[in-house]
Amino acid sequence: VSEELTVNADDLKTGPRALESRVLEALSDVKDPEIPALSILDLGMLNQVSCVEGLVKVSLTPTFLGCPALPIIQRNLEDRLLQVPGVREVAVEFVFDPPWTTERITSEGREKLREFGIAPPACALATQPTPTAVCPYCGSEDTRLENLFGPTACRSLFYCNHCHQPFEAMKPV
Ligand SMILES: [Zn+2]
Repeated sequence: VSEELTVNADDLKTGPRALESRVLEALSDVKDPEIPALSILDLGMLNQVSCVEGLVKVSLTPTFLGCPALPIIQRNLEDRLLQVPGVREVAVEFVFDPPWTTERITSEGREKLREFGIAPPACALATQPTPTAVCPYCGSEDTRLENLFGPTACRSLFYCNHCHQPFEAMKPV
């Protein structure tokens, strides 16, 4: 009995298959170690999932290349998926082309970023001479860049002139 199915990221939410939906639910438990509020689904990292007789293949597009989190994400993903009933083996593949952009973050992901206190990335297509960000606490645009190189390669440090709070912003790529 051979069971094969391949789903595209777009079809994931409506997939009728039980194993598939269990796998997807598990994927939403796998967080970005640097932003624990966001799952790899929120970040738009998932390209494709296929389940063939208990072997789950997951294709991901890595976020910021500067982030050292990939091996951690891979291990967390494997650990989590192996807990799913029916999953025997997990293969994770990272696809670098086309590259991930901050445009891939879902609207839910952007909302979670804001709640986490990180300003979602501004539109990457707009080439701005100075990076800008909207304050995640009060929504003010009256903010200034404190330090382009924040705590991680992916984030910058901003200061809100309105509510006087420092906050981080995800750099658009
Ligand atoms: Zn503010």
